[in-house]
Amino acid sequence: MNWKMADRAEKMNPSVIREILKVTEKPGIISFAGGLPSPKTFPIAAFTKACANVLGSDGEAALQYAASEGYGPLREWVAASLPWDIDPAQVLITTGSQQALDLIAKILIDKDSRVLVETPTYLGALQAFTPMEPEFVSVASNAGGIDLQDLAAKAAGARFLYLLPNFQNPTGNSMNEASRAALSAAAARLGVPIIEDNPYGDLWFDAPPPLPLTARNPEGCIYMGSFSKTLAPGLRLGFLVAPKALYPKLLQAKQAADLHTPSFNQRMVHEVLKDGFLDQHVPTIRALYKAQRDAMLAALEANLAGSGVTWNKPDGGMFLWLKLPKGMNAVDLLPLAVERNVAYVPGAPFYSGTPEHNTLRLSFVTSTVEQINTGIAALAQVFSENQR
Ligand code: PMP
Repeated sequence: MNWKMADRAEKMNPSVIREILKVTEKPGIISFAGGLPSPKTFPIAAFTKACANVLGSDGEAALQYAASEGYGPLREWVAASLPWDIDPAQVLITTGSQQALDLIAKILIDKDSRVLVETPTYLGALQAFTPMEPEFVSVASNAGGIDLQDLAAKAAGARFLYLLPNFQNPTGNSMNEASRAALSAAAARLGVPIIEDNPYGDLWFDAPPPLPLTARNPEGCIYMGSFSKTLAPGLRLGFLVAPKALYPKLLQAKQAADLHTPSFNQRMVHEVLKDGFLDQHVPTIRALYKAQRDAMLAALEANLAGSGVTWNKPDGGMFLWLKLPKGMNAVDLLPLAVERNVAYVPGAPFYSGTPEHNTLRLSFVTSTVEQINTGIAALAQVFSENQR
């Protein structure tokens, strides 16, 4: 049979990270590479109870086809949980927030459309947008946020700016109040819509982050959230909040994609959430991740202080970002790290433009403190032996 691939399929690539991580699949390896939440945080007992309640009280509806917009009470919960005025009719429940990225790409990107992204940015967003064949334009970014002069220089004709203001993937960096206020004003002035991706915002350690960008200009933004990091990623449950004018097109894209997000999962999650469960549950995740972050920072300090390697101190989320001395290459060093039973994700795949090869991402959430200590000591050895 002569299968002829569509041009768009030819342009799809396997996740670069997945390919890189194949070398890290080794029994006993200490992995700082994954993007997974800690399974210790999954509320299995609450779901066991909710499952019985949903099936007992509402089994037929929970197992039937349902509305593409999502389960009404869950949409109301989402609207009420966010700190600006939202009509539940603006909430679309999605099959993970990853699907929200796909739907947004389908309705907003044409071939060669200009799409602005942070430097670096979430690889899964680059993957979701790529089949629509945009022209990616990296806007210069640093720990404080994106460079507004560079944004102004690149904004003309952009379909949107995609960004993660809270505990970014991959860097762990967050935007402070002043940079949010300035960015929000600049985007409005330049007429650039914002896609705000916020799967990590609830995982703050000492103080909640400043107001989302969407709260400052709801008509100029699409906001995305997820239950993957506060409940469990296997549920595949996320959402977007869109201006009313955009909603019908997003809904049509959603219908075509999968009719609706599983009714059963939506009802289970609503059953778990409805009496304030997250108010007790999320603080336990914050406490665990904060202790893990502190352990990793202490291990980095003990093993790498003065070595020329630098790192940030994230205020929440799951990741921190390392910079090796210039000239060192984190992709080349990964097999050497794996030989010593430790893995990380090189930073290069997270850049849509020219990568900084000396960067890498470390997850601090899935390893024990003991593993963190052993793993960071091993990494430090690899770095010092290969110092250029
Ligand atoms: N956005 C970002 C920035 C992410 O890190 C992730 C998960 N790794 C997602 C979206 C997708 O999350 P989910 O589909 O599980 O909601």
